[in-house]
Amino acid sequence: MTLEEVLKKYEPVIGLEIHAQLLTNSKAYSRDANEFGAVPNTNISPTSLGHPGTLPKFNGKTLNYGIKLGLACHSEITRDMHFDRKNYFYPDLPKGYQITQDKTPICTGGYVLIKDANGNEKSIELTRIHMEEDSGKSSHDIDPFDTLIDLNRAGVPLLEIVTEPVFKNGKEAYNYLIEMRKLVRYLDICDGNMEEGSMRCDVNVSIMPIGSKEFGQRVEVKNMNSISNVEKAIEYEIVRLAGVLDSGGKVLQETRNFDANTGETIALRKKEDAHDYRYFPEPDLTALHITQDYINEVKKNLPALPNDLYKKYVNELKLSDYDATNLTESKGIALYFEELIAHTKNFKAAANWMMGSVKSYLNQNALEIEDFPIEAEKIAQLIQLIEEEKVNNSVATQKVFPFLVMNPESNPIQIAESNGWITKTDSSEIENVIINIFKNNPDEFERFKNGEKKLTGFFMGQVMREMKGAADPKTTTQLLNKLANEV
Ligand code: ADP
Ligand code: MG
Repeated sequence: MTLEEVLKKYEPVIGLEIHAQLLTNSKAYSRDANEFGAVPNTNISPTSLGHPGTLPKFNGKTLNYGIKLGLACHSEITRDMHFDRKNYFYPDLPKGYQITQDKTPICTGGYVLIKDANGNEKSIELTRIHMEEDSGKSSHDIDPFDTLIDLNRAGVPLLEIVTEPVFKNGKEAYNYLIEMRKLVRYLDICDGNMEEGSMRCDVNVSIMPIGSKEFGQRVEVKNMNSISNVEKAIEYEIVRLAGVLDSGGKVLQETRNFDANTGETIALRKKEDAHDYRYFPEPDLTALHITQDYINEVKKNLPALPNDLYKKYVNELKLSDYDATNLTESKGIALYFEELIAHTKNFKAAANWMMGSVKSYLNQNALEIEDFPIEAEKIAQLIQLIEEEKVNNSVATQKVFPFLVMNPESNPIQIAESNGWITKTDSSEIENVIINIFKNNPDEFERFKNGEKKLTGFFMGQVMREMKGAADPKTTTQLLNKLANEV
């Protein structure tokens, strides 16, 4: 069955869990460094190795980051909370339990606005956000015989973000992950890198007959290292579940693995029920009380958020959806654009410069906007030069801009003047140039004189070359036509 055929009969229901590794210097409950890519088993200590008698110490940064995210997602911040132990046995979990939050997650409720598959706004309700610690990492494919364990990751702080089962298809899940990744990056709490595993996503999928009120049995798919793989896994799983039901089978509560090479999911293990974990309050950490003052302080220091900027660009600056989406894709680009529009009111031109010359320069040189040499104010000056018709658009993009990148301490007007790039409207100068060109191209001149209008472009090119692009195109066209009849 194809996905399209399945969707005529079944309605998918999807909920997502994201684990975001936090950008703290040290781990969640110990002083070990939190650092990706270190030599295996070097960022460890008796605490992260789970030695008996060691005591955890809570990293307050985790709390700060959790509240930041909660406020950005309009969640309710829990004022009195504690930590819980979630008990299970894994080789990469040396303590035999994970410190997490069960009954008192740091945030409850809230929502994130995304686009649905048709481009309409949709609100994704969050169930909860809670703080917990990561486990170590087992590698089964490095050594041919043994599983290797790296405990550098054990104890790295995580926020787990759980949504309500409100997604209807893979595209919505894709858009949500793009939005969440943007959000954690704008907040500077997680680098959002799915390839390196610093943002991970578990997908819960079920299907039910169209019109049914009761959700079907869900399966969980783990281990996707890109946002597009999440979409693929969901679509694969919807079709697989329909196959199971249509052949009279029963969907099992299980955890499955996504194989990016085949695009298929494979059963990994039967999923535990919550009661198997035997949660209980963590006795080694004190309960936390969060004051309103603290929440206010975090709120005051929140940066501009991508969705707010998007709305501002569309509603106030009257930019297109396409422009606003591109400008808010990364925090760096948005901040640069914010600075640019502090110096020019020509928002459309500012957007075009960002997405045109600036982005191509960054792409060609494999640079981030943070490394872009030109100050925003100078791009605004360049826009003004064009508005005042002192330089034309192609001189600005092809001459002044490249010069400015090489000489960022200079400024556009200086550059245009000293290179003779200021548009010349002085007819006599352009006339002399045209007469010379007519003389040097007698054949073309003859044809042009006899009415071959398409040669206008040829002569315009010659004039521009001679005058370094600084001839006023309108004056030039008029003079070409006038002189053709006079010379
Ligand atoms: P667990 O720890 O078992 O993964 P969580 O409460 O952390 O449980 O996450 C459950 C996730 O599954 C949530 O995102 C929720 O929206 C989703 N979910 C619950 N029931 C269904 C269902 N029938 N179909 C699809 N998703 C579901
Ligand atoms: Mg879970």
